[in-house]
Amino acid sequence: MSPIQQARFLLSAATVQDFPSEAGPELAFAGRSNVGKSSAINALAGRRRLAFSSKTPGRTQTINFYALGDAGRLADLPGYGYASVPQALRASWDALIGGYFMGRRTLAGVVVLMDARHPLTKNDRNFLEWLRPAPAPRLVLLSKADKLSRAERAKTLAATRAALDAAALSSEVLVFSSNSGEGVDEARAQLERWLANKKPPEKGN
Ligand code: GDP
Repeated sequence: MSPIQQARFLLSAATVQDFPSEAGPELAFAGRSNVGKSSAINALAGRRRLAFSSKTPGRTQTINFYALGDAGRLADLPGYGYASVPQALRASWDALIGGYFMGRRTLAGVVVLMDARHPLTKNDRNFLEWLRPAPAPRLVLLSKADKLSRAERAKTLAATRAALDAAALSSEVLVFSSNSGEGVDEARAQLERWLANKKPPEKGN
């Protein structure tokens, strides 16, 4: 069985101090709120209710960590881009996510969910820019692709690839739907490659 299908909830961290120790390669999942991130994690894990989305802006934001058998970990980051988020909450998001990407030496790759109907929103671009210094590969999943026709799916895929290349934000891009299953096996295979290829950080660094 794929390690991703062995995902098991570990803990929720509201601050950097709560993060579990670095143990094995880690996959991070990000995306704006309501983009379909929880559904994607559940589809990849082959489970119905492993990951939950926190619907209410203003609630405590946490990174939810999952163990992937003994192959590594998965970190589900809080959604970005609530228009109405108060300044204090935005600052705590920055500290939590900033602390994560600056410090996590076991990071093996970052999955960024974007809505296939309107990818690369301002918030998506800001997040990718902000992620630029992180030394990990990225995979963009164009979510809810079942809402598009076949021709529209091909068009959004090509346009997103071209826009990312133009911005020198190199990423793999896949059309994805938790509902139809499109892209699920391909995405899981990519994540497994990341887990298998990530070298452990050198001790003492
Ligand atoms: P999150 O906030 O990013 O974790 O988003 P969720 O996974 O909770 O999904 C947000 C909404 O989008 C829910 O109403 C889901 O049913 C819906 N959704 C998620 N994935 C898909 C998909 O692949 N296709 C369609 N049509 N809807 C989806």
